[in-house]
Amino acid sequence: MRVPFYDIRAQYDELKAQLDAATSEVLSTGAYVMGKYHNGLEASIAQWHGCKHGIAVNSGTDALRILLDAAGVGPGDEVITTAFTFVATVEVIVQVGATPVLVDIDPGHYQIVPERVEASISPRTKAIMPIHLFGQLAEVNRLRQIAERDGIVVLEDAAQALGSHHEGVYAGNFGLGAGFSFYVTKNLGAAGDGGMILTNDDGIAARCRSIRVHGMGRQRYYYDHVGYTSRLAELQAAILSVKLTRQEAWNARRNEIAALYQGVLEDSPVTIQRVLPGNNTTWHQFTLRAPKRDELQAFLKEREVDSMIYYPVPLHFHEPYRHLASGPGSLPETEKLCEEVLSLPIHPHLSDEQALFAAQQVREFYG
Ligand SMILES: *Cc1c(COP(=O)(O)O)cnc(C)c1O
Repeated sequence: MRVPFYDIRAQYDELKAQLDAATSEVLSTGAYVMGKYHNGLEASIAQWHGCKHGIAVNSGTDALRILLDAAGVGPGDEVITTAFTFVATVEVIVQVGATPVLVDIDPGHYQIVPERVEASISPRTKAIMPIHLFGQLAEVNRLRQIAERDGIVVLEDAAQALGSHHEGVYAGNFGLGAGFSFYVTKNLGAAGDGGMILTNDDGIAARCRSIRVHGMGRQRYYYDHVGYTSRLAELQAAILSVKLTRQEAWNARRNEIAALYQGVLEDSPVTIQRVLPGNNTTWHQFTLRAPKRDELQAFLKEREVDSMIYYPVPLHFHEPYRHLASGPGSLPETEKLCEEVLSLPIHPHLSDEQALFAAQQVREFYG
């Protein structure tokens, strides 16, 4: 039985009539930027997450970079984050001229460790950027306490956490703002790139709206900031608006698959990412630590079960980011995790049979 890691096409098949109607409507109107789908998507996602403002942009990376800009993070500032993340988190901090300060992660839930954040705060610290890794919120309340006490801000990398919440409080409400991604393979994926900023702060929202269109002020061709071109295309907004109607059902299906995996893999040699108390996770990825990881992956491949390694190499081992740490051994938990993690397929169009088969192959590998 083949178990594919993603099945993007299945999303189209499920929503073909609505997607075809919405995209041809956009094409036929000629309103290709910032039209009704764009504005509707901003309002719907902000409302779903209980946030005051939604600002659609061209990617998750842009969402984070614009947020940093809007929060006034720049040269001379430090931003505390981790090296166990997608490169964009650290890349945007460098792009705005600030310095990423990399701290180690918790080996059980893979999130930034609040105590390590506390120990890394310096007079130059301007922000903490936790990553809600694999669909689960970081230790947000602890981080918020630390930030408030020290007069710094939390900016959430919520690229993988659309719909995730802690005791009913959704991603986007734990700091000054959050960046979300609608890249193809994210839980809510466009037919290309897309992203959104959520914030409850009026000033940040106004600056983000301005920065995404060249820093334009209230009047056309008058500029208040140095900005970017980062509009979300209306076609993408139309596609995302249609798929958004299935988001909660799709996230619920991911939770069902996770429960199947957990059932079969209980008492096996693998350790599944721990879910923190009070956290609901949207299982953007289903990730575990596996002894003999590379052999396991090869075994699964032979059985036609796809798997991925997020992330194979810690960020401080890559040339552009090497100067941010002092080489191997500087972030031991992160480095160990990169050698042990494996993600199993968990998209909403996976059948129970496929999930059970995949999990059983993992058990079989260990005998
Ligand atoms: C996907 C992702 C991003 C960047 O989003 P894009 O839409 O691909 O630009 C940033 N951070 C994390 C943790 C991500 O997974």
